[in-house]
Amino acid sequence: MNIILLGATGAGKGTIALQMKDRYKLPHISTGDIFRENIKNNTELGKLAKSYIDKGALVPDDVTTNLIVDRLTHDDCKKGFILDGFPRNNAQAKSLDEAFEKSGNKIDLVILVDATDEQIADRLSGRRVCENCGHIYHIVNIPPKVEGVCDKCGGKLIQRKDDSKEVIQDRLKTYHEITKPLIDYYSKENILKSVPGFVGSQEERLKMIDAMVNA
Ligand code: AMP
Repeated sequence: MNIILLGATGAGKGTIALQMKDRYKLPHISTGDIFRENIKNNTELGKLAKSYIDKGALVPDDVTTNLIVDRLTHDDCKKGFILDGFPRNNAQAKSLDEAFEKSGNKIDLVILVDATDEQIADRLSGRRVCENCGHIYHIVNIPPKVEGVCDKCGGKLIQRKDDSKEVIQDRLKTYHEITKPLIDYYSKENILKSVPGFVGSQEERLKMIDAMVNA
């Protein structure tokens, strides 16, 4: 099954994606993670992406789309995938549709992870990420057992540069102006369902997603 997770940055897509990845045995493809990995390794792509990411702006469409269209041809995507953070605007969604038309593939389900700006700003400013394994924590809601240390691998927990207050506001603006129209795009195709990002427990959310995946 080919799934897109849609929603504002910080709405909880990443956490949900990691749970879905284990549950449905599908690869989790996050454009943000791919860019961050490249920044960490100081690649050319990383250098380019950083100049946009640090400002809360989007990395150019051609770069991002080529990256994803290529990634989706890998063997692990044959049974499906979970796309997280892509597409992020109408142009990317159209490019994805065009690439799929050629390969005879299609998107089966788009899950909108819904949250208010206040919930998102609160979550992002408290978010900490393991610099080693990428596991996500929140200083209040999901604290690690030992402050600043990852429970899973002992790695150091850091705050992403783009989780600073100013950049969060820019990222939310980008979401409202550029990404939100995708809700309409996929509603028209009748494949959009939504789950609340923060209301209810993780188990309840997964039950809702199970129902969507098995519908
Ligand atoms: P995320 O981890 O999904 O919040 O992404 C972090 C940053 O990576 C975003 O604020 C953008 O600068 C960039 N990014 C991620 N996905 C895309 C995309 N589909 N198109 C352009 N830029 C992206």
